[in-house]
Amino acid sequence: WEKITAHNNNKDEIADMQQAYNHMIDRIDENMTKQIRFVSDASHELKTPLSVITSYAELLQRRGKQRPEIFDESVEAILSEAGRMKHLTEQMLMLAKNEAIENVRFEPVDISQMVRDVVRSLTLAYKREIHYYDMIEQSLTVSADEQKMNQAIYILVDNACKYSDREINIYIEEKDKQLLISVQDFGDGLSKEEQEFIFDRFFRVDKARSRKAGGTGLGLAICKAIVEAHGGKISIESRLNEGSTFTIHLPK
Ligand code: ADP
Repeated sequence: WEKITAHNNNKDEIADMQQAYNHMIDRIDENMTKQIRFVSDASHELKTPLSVITSYAELLQRRGKQRPEIFDESVEAILSEAGRMKHLTEQMLMLAKNEAIENVRFEPVDISQMVRDVVRSLTLAYKREIHYYDMIEQSLTVSADEQKMNQAIYILVDNACKYSDREINIYIEEKDKQLLISVQDFGDGLSKEEQEFIFDRFFRVDKARSRKAGGTGLGLAICKAIVEAHGGKISIESRLNEGSTFTIHLPK
């Protein structure tokens, strides 16, 4: 700082520089804090599946040879937890490497078709009906990264399936030069306070429920990053115990 200001006698200029400098330091500080928190949360998240794997491996070692039912149960649990760790590490890497926002490959994408494909695959996976309403008159292509946008839409519809046992509606419409993709459910819903943190990494309202459903608490953070990398935004309307509507707003 002394070197920067050594040859400058203009007080106003120095004050401006000082302000910019402080701002920069604050941002570095903020980023460091975020990174440290991410690493500590990530380690914590990995501990649970690891300890389940260790317990079952020990059980296998002690009793696996004599009791076939213990053998089967342990192997199944180990495989399931290992799968969970794989999913978690893939999502963590995606966020840590900023993959959601870097290397976005824009190409013309038929969003209606993409949403239809997501709906079809989740209808099969969850064996339940998902209603799809396309309000766009002609087929519409937007410039997007097909794989990433597919992932963002998948996360929202998947969450609606995980956190609601009732009706799910997906709407696509055009409004004010924007393309809106809304995912509406009539499930748990979220309080105003929960809505504030919902896009934070590792935030989960009900950890046990999320875990049981194969959740990691990273889906919405990834979804938001992808949508913002497309110049769009994501909004939420929700009421506790009544349901939620998540909407992706994309520039056309
Ligand atoms: P997860 O992998 O746990 O589902 P997300 O980041 O996708 O992580 O979501 C974070 C949390 O937000 C979830 O654990 C859940 O508590 C809550 N949530 C997400 N979507 C919904 C929804 N449609 N209805 C109610 N709660 C939701």
